Amino acid sequence: MALGPQVSDLKETLLASIAEEVMSCQNCKLGATRTKAVPGVGSAYAHICFVGEGPGREEDLSGIPFVGQAGRLLDRMLIAEGLSRRDCYICNIVKCRPPNNRVPEPSEVAACSLYLYAQLAIVEPEVICLLGNTALRFFFGEQYSIGQVHGTILVKDEQRFMPIYHPAAALRNPQYVQVIQSDLRKLAALIQRTVD
Ligand code: SF4
Repeated sequence: MALGPQVSDLKETLLASIAEEVMSCQNCKLGATRTKAVPGVGSAYAHICFVGEGPGREEDLSGIPFVGQAGRLLDRMLIAEGLSRRDCYICNIVKCRPPNNRVPEPSEVAACSLYLYAQLAIVEPEVICLLGNTALRFFFGEQYSIGQVHGTILVKDEQRFMPIYHPAAALRNPQYVQVIQSDLRKLAALIQRTVD
């Protein structure tokens, strides 16, 4: 009797089926203005999931998250800590670009959240790294600020999170490069301790 797919194959298949749904989704008004939806990318068995706010201009054109200037900066900082995109899963709170990169509206976040929750449930990362205030507040509420909790470990429902500044902040203000780098170092050390 033929056995079903391996669990690892199943995870990839499930992520791919979410991506397919996202690409044709019209569950909120961002679906009408996007070029391409940006479901997420990376390893289905990643120890770290990065969650950003939403796609920017280059992501909207390519359909891949974090390929613009901020994404390239994040790549360089990950490599400096011995990490790479292959070790991670990367996605956003909303999968379609808000016009002019505005902050996504609560109704858009609510409409898109089922995809994010499904992605995280499939990947089951050791740590979810929240990039910026929108991702932080989605999970922890409006009273939280990235300036106060970046680089710390937060726990909710037995899931560990580490909020850090969004790499776009470092493009606007280079003093954040060192802050983000230092937080990524803590994240890499945490993962190392967890998987050893
Ligand atoms: S942002 Fe999310 S909910 Fe809105 S259309 Fe895009 S995929 Fe659908």
